[in-house]
Amino acid sequence: MPNTINHFVNGEERTGRGTRTSPVFNPATGEQSGAVTLATTEEVRDVVEVAKKAFPAWSTTTPLRRARILNRFLRILEERTDELAAVITAEHGKVLSDAKGEIQRGMEVVEFAVGAPQLLKGEVTENVGTRVDSHALRQPLGIVAGITPFNFPVMVPMWMFPVALACGNCFILKPSERDPSASLLIAEWLKEAGLPDGVFNVVQGDKESVNALLNDPDIAAISFVGSTPIARYIYETAARTGKRCQALGGAKNHMIIMPDADLDQAVDALMGAAYGSAGERCMAISVAVPVGRQTADALVAKLEARLRELKVGPGTDTAAEMGPLVTREHLERVRGYIDSGVEEGAKLVIDGRDHKVAGHENGYFIGGTLFDHVTTDMKIYKEEIFGPVLAVARADSYETAARWINEHEFGNGTAIFTRDGDAAREFAHQIQVGMVGVNVPIPVPMAFHSFGGWKASLFGDHHMHGPEGVRFYTKLKTITSRWPTGIRSGADFVMPTMQ
Ligand code: NAD
Repeated sequence: MPNTINHFVNGEERTGRGTRTSPVFNPATGEQSGAVTLATTEEVRDVVEVAKKAFPAWSTTTPLRRARILNRFLRILEERTDELAAVITAEHGKVLSDAKGEIQRGMEVVEFAVGAPQLLKGEVTENVGTRVDSHALRQPLGIVAGITPFNFPVMVPMWMFPVALACGNCFILKPSERDPSASLLIAEWLKEAGLPDGVFNVVQGDKESVNALLNDPDIAAISFVGSTPIARYIYETAARTGKRCQALGGAKNHMIIMPDADLDQAVDALMGAAYGSAGERCMAISVAVPVGRQTADALVAKLEARLRELKVGPGTDTAAEMGPLVTREHLERVRGYIDSGVEEGAKLVIDGRDHKVAGHENGYFIGGTLFDHVTTDMKIYKEEIFGPVLAVARADSYETAARWINEHEFGNGTAIFTRDGDAAREFAHQIQVGMVGVNVPIPVPMAFHSFGGWKASLFGDHHMHGPEGVRFYTKLKTITSRWPTGIRSGADFVMPTMQ
């Protein structure tokens, strides 16, 4: 009997009342390990009611007390990183060291959120008019929801809830149904850290629960991370239902390799950025753009040699550098993209389609794949593959390379490898992408900055965590006050002006 994965509501696990479930697999073996219960619209409504009851006390708890709870949660995460990483690997498939890296990046947002008293300090102006003062406060929104993708079952929720809770909101997490178990550990550990019941809840589910959250009048804001078509749908629906929304979508990240770049460094960077986590990262580099033929020939030769050495295996094997894909459907989808690249005439340098891992024949493994001579009209160039498939698109000049990036639908991350400060500066300042790396292949901002792309990679106007996260999860109130000695007598019928 597969293990049932439940909701977490009002401080405890709650069995689903609905009849629908979704299977959860171990990607390394292909075996079903669990069945996640899928919430009905009515169940979502119940959870919103629970969060509503918890909100008055939580929102008036001092920021310092809220911060102390998050600080205890941080200690628990530090002590139990291995346990959480094992849960990630068992359902997602990524190698354990990478799962620990994801937890570490999530913990950094908790560290940031522990600064709540500092983050929530308002602004004061003395004497905006004679004996009139103004101060601006940031107050919580109320009940907010986070809808998250499969590829970072811990880090992406942690881009959201630590900041939301620090700001005094109650949070409902709707994790991916592919790897839902990590969310339950997070909920338990938050409770153990002292978080009052009902402040953080987990609703397992799919489209039905997402729609229930989107349409619930008591949800004030939605944070979403996932694919672009769903991000667009979430944003449009949230706008219609009057909710604040930040919806992060897909990506197709390019890395330009200039002729003066250190090629060995660039190849090392590409190996990790293209094949780490089997390419299932929104910040993965999926297009390498070498400038000039010599650079391209040398880059492809070095990449090919390195890729033949890539160690693919189950995430629990400490020697493995890359694990399996998340599901059989996704494996077939990625294989389909490789077929289409071949059909469209790209040169398949290394073909990972039939890669087998001994002892794990039913796992969802695919080998690292390399295409050369990819052109901008090909499907493998235009669409997000979300697998370990690197496309080399040769550019004749920096201008061509930069133009391709600017014209692409997505604008999540990008990088340039060069020793030329002028080229790097030009790139960083002109490129139409939200997160830019100079000799840094995956420029994920630290927790105290904010994360987010441009164009079809983000709908809404706030990036996640950091200062933008605080702005997203709070609403501004400005109070103007004066006291009897500052009040002039008589009624004013003109537009008030301060003197
Ligand atoms: P997905 O869009 O399929 O799912 C994301 C969430 O939306 C899940 O919780 C899922 O249950 C829900 N969902 C799926 N279909 C839905 C529908 N029709 N209606 C309502 N809700 C629905 O994404 P995924 O496959 O889990 O994750 C991979 C995608 O996420 C990639 O495109 C990747 O680039 C993107 N991603 C982006 C970022 C970023 O920061 N921009 C970060 C991580 C992942």
